[in-house]
Amino acid sequence: MDTIYALASGAGRAGIAIYRLSGPQAGVALVALSGRPLPPPRQAMRVKLTDGAGEAIDDGLALWFPAPFSFTGEDVVELQLHGGRAVANALGEALVELGLRPAEAGEFSKRAVLEGKLDFTRAEAVADLIDAETAAQRRQALHQMGGALEALVEGWRAKLVRALALVEAVIDFADEGVGEVELDRAAAQIEALAGEMAASLADRRRGERLRDGVHVAILGAPNAGKSSLLNRLAGREAAIVSATAGTTRDVIEIHLDLGGWPVVVADTAGLRDSACAIEAEGVRRALARAEAADLKLALFDGAVIDPATLALVDGDTMVVVNKADLAGEVPAELAGRPVLAVSALTGHGFDQLLAALEAEVAARLEGGGAAPLTRQRHRAAVAECLAALGRFAAAPEVELAAEDLRLAARALGRITGRIDVEELLDVVFRDFCIGK
Ligand code: GDP
Repeated sequence: MDTIYALASGAGRAGIAIYRLSGPQAGVALVALSGRPLPPPRQAMRVKLTDGAGEAIDDGLALWFPAPFSFTGEDVVELQLHGGRAVANALGEALVELGLRPAEAGEFSKRAVLEGKLDFTRAEAVADLIDAETAAQRRQALHQMGGALEALVEGWRAKLVRALALVEAVIDFADEGVGEVELDRAAAQIEALAGEMAASLADRRRGERLRDGVHVAILGAPNAGKSSLLNRLAGREAAIVSATAGTTRDVIEIHLDLGGWPVVVADTAGLRDSACAIEAEGVRRALARAEAADLKLALFDGAVIDPATLALVDGDTMVVVNKADLAGEVPAELAGRPVLAVSALTGHGFDQLLAALEAEVAARLEGGGAAPLTRQRHRAAVAECLAALGRFAAAPEVELAAEDLRLAARALGRITGRIDVEELLDVVFRDFCIGK
């Protein structure tokens, strides 16, 4: 196993940078660079690091985490040095000379999974926490990092394997009078379990939406004021998190934090027929964006009701009339939806717009407690498991039924990365007193 190293803190100039070394040579490397024996585990030691030629690298702190009590489960050294390019380069060269190599993306977490320190769901949660931009996202990531999803899935899998053990018993000990009763018991257990799993799928994708942010697409005719609206939303320093700009004919996104809920607002090309191929492509993307969005914001230019925009208004649309400062006659309702009157120029109506937006977003993310499934990957595995359970219920032969349960357990195992059904089965069977 290679020993790897990486800068664990953010890149660039900084007061302090933290480097992490993981693998069998981590301790040896620290001894070589510091010229001192290893410190006691998990205690900071002042170190003056020098390279192989005796050239000083930096003066800092070192921490020693011998296996298995480290993030990766391997020997780990953490170095707190001064943040800066020259220190980073000198350290990197000295470590490579000692036989270490730079880590690949995600390699520390991957090793932690391989060493059994983290299951897949917790490793994903570490990434989610690092990416979290709002309080609700942070809470969800911490919840999953604490093992909520792992516990749920492992609980389901344990129930599945127990039912599988019953079915296996029917196959193995049929001539000892094990049969109908056990099969019925297994079927009842599976039915209850399938109900639980189906309920977790019926969560309106809240977990995924919270991870990704609720996507809002602003739609409207050219000059309705879409860009002005987006700019004003982005201009609220309290609300904006980050902005990424594409080209004007592409889709421009801003990330908002509305009361802790993450929202991604996209400005799209104006909806109109165009002979220009690039603009037509922009319109195509705008429509695709509208299709994929969780929520649409149809923007009208004052009293001018653009039919192309109106045609897109549905139950998931907020209707906003812009240029309220020009005081045209604004209807109270459009296409059966209440109208919010704003002025992107003066900011009139924006408090109400933000409040309404927050309410719409909250309605899509709130619900009975935390939604445990936070990725499409999780949903796909649960759906696959449910399909196998459906086949189990309809299986004509007990051997086929057992195989369906195996497949169902394996599908769940893919969520956490534990797919050792046989191993678990042995454990369960040990508690069985049929035969011996
Ligand atoms: P887009 O094509 O939909 O993105 O529209 P823009 O944001 O580029 O705005 C088109 C024009 O309308 C610009 O000249 C803006 O200054 C103007 N505009 C946007 N919002 C308002 C508003 O609330 N009131 C007034 N009077 N003009 C506005």
